[in-house]
Amino acid sequence: MSKFFDGKLSALEPYTPGEQPKNVSELIKLNTNESPFPPSPRVFEVLNRESIEKLRLYPAIGVTELHQATADFYGIDPEQVFTANGSDEALAFCFHGLCPNGAAFADLTYGFYPVFSDMFGIPYRVVPLREDFTLAVEDYEGLHETVFIANPNAPTGLYLELARIRALLEQDRERLVVVDEAYIDFGGESAVALLPEYENLLIIQTFSKSRQLAGARLGLAIGSRELIADMNTLKFSFNPYSVNNLTLLEGAAAMRDREYFETCRHEIIRVRRLVTEELRRRGFTIPESMTNFIFASPPGLTGRDYYEKLRERGILVRYFGIPRTENYVRITIGSEEQMQALLAATDDILKEA
Ligand SMILES: *Cc1c(COP(=O)(O)O)cnc(C)c1O
Repeated sequence: MSKFFDGKLSALEPYTPGEQPKNVSELIKLNTNESPFPPSPRVFEVLNRESIEKLRLYPAIGVTELHQATADFYGIDPEQVFTANGSDEALAFCFHGLCPNGAAFADLTYGFYPVFSDMFGIPYRVVPLREDFTLAVEDYEGLHETVFIANPNAPTGLYLELARIRALLEQDRERLVVVDEAYIDFGGESAVALLPEYENLLIIQTFSKSRQLAGARLGLAIGSRELIADMNTLKFSFNPYSVNNLTLLEGAAAMRDREYFETCRHEIIRVRRLVTEELRRRGFTIPESMTNFIFASPPGLTGRDYYEKLRERGILVRYFGIPRTENYVRITIGSEEQMQALLAATDDILKEA
């Protein structure tokens, strides 16, 4: 730390991203929940000489084709859509500007929530998940902090039915609930359906997981016009042009290509079911995932051992070295071929153990 670093932030513990190894081609990378598929063919089409020439201009502001495409997808108004440089940026604005009474979130959830809280000096309350990793919305009754729920949750993969989200919203209509739907397209139902009834709901989504654009950095917030106006106030007080020209075009193209989106997400769901069944047959414990990953506990060895032995065999998964989940690893659902390699490596590891 330099002598210039603000003492208020000296204890800041940054988020630890999953490893992005240089030799990707030699590894089977199942550690950061990226898609095994390329972006939509329509994304390739919008990257051309004309769009590249336009890079000399600042990106469009206001309602763009991306806002319209998102609005059409969900049957909402484009003014209910906010765009950000990844959903991480949208979440940062929520912590910075929408937590007047602090924040509340689970002990096992997206690791960025406590980091944002610390970064912006927001006090936060940790509400532990139940023994079986489920989230009981009753545990939030009477809390006044802005509630952050990843639904489905990471790293557990568990999904909360919309009726549960509704119950959470009903507890206190003066309390904002931010639902982070990074994984909603892998089997869940978006809370966007609840927006007409609840103005205390803000939904965050990303193009990184189900739309094959993790590297483009694009996220959304969807909510009431008033909440979206607040998000824009925050964005325009920080970096109005945080979403670049090309990403705006790529996002709109991906959002419009419904057929490709459906094909990719259904393939992930199919392979997830197959791998879950195969691993359970081998004695793994796996909560029911509604995401593009599984949270898996191998029989007879710790999460760390399994992680390390997979790595020796060229397969990268995510291990979180915290006591509550030390027997688990998080495995991204890749292509069927990649998952067959995971199963083969697992058989080899289990034989050895
Ligand atoms: C991946 C992920 C994000 C971040 O997505 P980006 O749009 O790539 O910033 C946000 N929330 C959860 C729960 C995630 O898993």
